[in-house]
Amino acid sequence: MANGDPGIPITGAEIQTAINEGQFSLRYQPKLDCETLSLKGFEALIRWDHPSIGTIYPDQFIRVAEESGLIGKITEVVVDQAFRWYTTTSGVPGLSLSINISAKRLSDLDFADWLKRKCLSAGIRPDSIILEISEVAVLGERLHALDMFTRLRTKGFRVAIDGYGIGHATLATLAKLPFTEIKIDKSFAMAAPQSPEAKAFLKSTVQTSHSLDLRVVAEGVEDRETLDYLRNMGCDFVHGYLVARPMTGEEAQDWILNRRRLTRHILA
Ligand code: C2E
Ligand code: CA
Repeated sequence: MANGDPGIPITGAEIQTAINEGQFSLRYQPKLDCETLSLKGFEALIRWDHPSIGTIYPDQFIRVAEESGLIGKITEVVVDQAFRWYTTTSGVPGLSLSINISAKRLSDLDFADWLKRKCLSAGIRPDSIILEISEVAVLGERLHALDMFTRLRTKGFRVAIDGYGIGHATLATLAKLPFTEIKIDKSFAMAAPQSPEAKAFLKSTVQTSHSLDLRVVAEGVEDRETLDYLRNMGCDFVHGYLVARPMTGEEAQDWILNRRRLTRHILA
């Protein structure tokens, strides 16, 4: 949603102007090991810093960017900014960097090669990079997904299925694809405090994933009780507002330096 004006219609032409004028930036949200609560990586999340409207969130413009053929350019902006931040922030190299990839990229046969070249010129190991692709996108493009995941894995990248639980795919079906982790949609962790069904879904997803040798990430963790529940279930990784909100590159640098103090509320 855009601040102040949730209903603004966005056009491809405006997105093109925003690309030309450098109005896109990234926020970074930390991902913690669920058991030890140590920092494992960051997810890059795009924002449009519109000169008159303010911040516009990706749910407001990614679909228009896909429909107007501009998503490739946006992915380029995201990868360039994220790689620059990753290589220039102390304490970050060695951690994982998750990048969201649109369904439209699934059919781009050159994407994996292109990304590998970007890694080589930035000096980033491909196995530090996790490409997140939504469950719904994968379901709609199963053959392309198999091809793309295989290409990415061959080049050394990690792949995550994002927003799991929304598209009603079974893990056993998805597990035929070569991905490395599954991210349970944030709505489940957010509902967990009031919903026994959401808790049961979290628990069964963790159990089934582990039986298929997949790592599980729970996102949208906003309260201590849900974190404790996930830790007891043996969930592998968490992110959410309880740990930190998405931060600018600079804020994330400060967060890394001061994280022990800033996460005291969850360590106690
Ligand atoms: P996602 O990949 O599921 O990202 C998680 C979203 O949940 C983010 O919203 C994040 O800010 C929000 N979130 C994280 N923790 C919490 C929490 O504890 N509570 C709540 N209420 N929300 C939480 P955001 O940044 O608005 O991104 C929305 C979606 O836009 C993302 O969903 C992703 O699918 C897409 N997106 C974001 N960045 C990019 C990008 O660079 N490229 C593409 N293609 N899509 C992107
Ligand atoms: Ca994601």
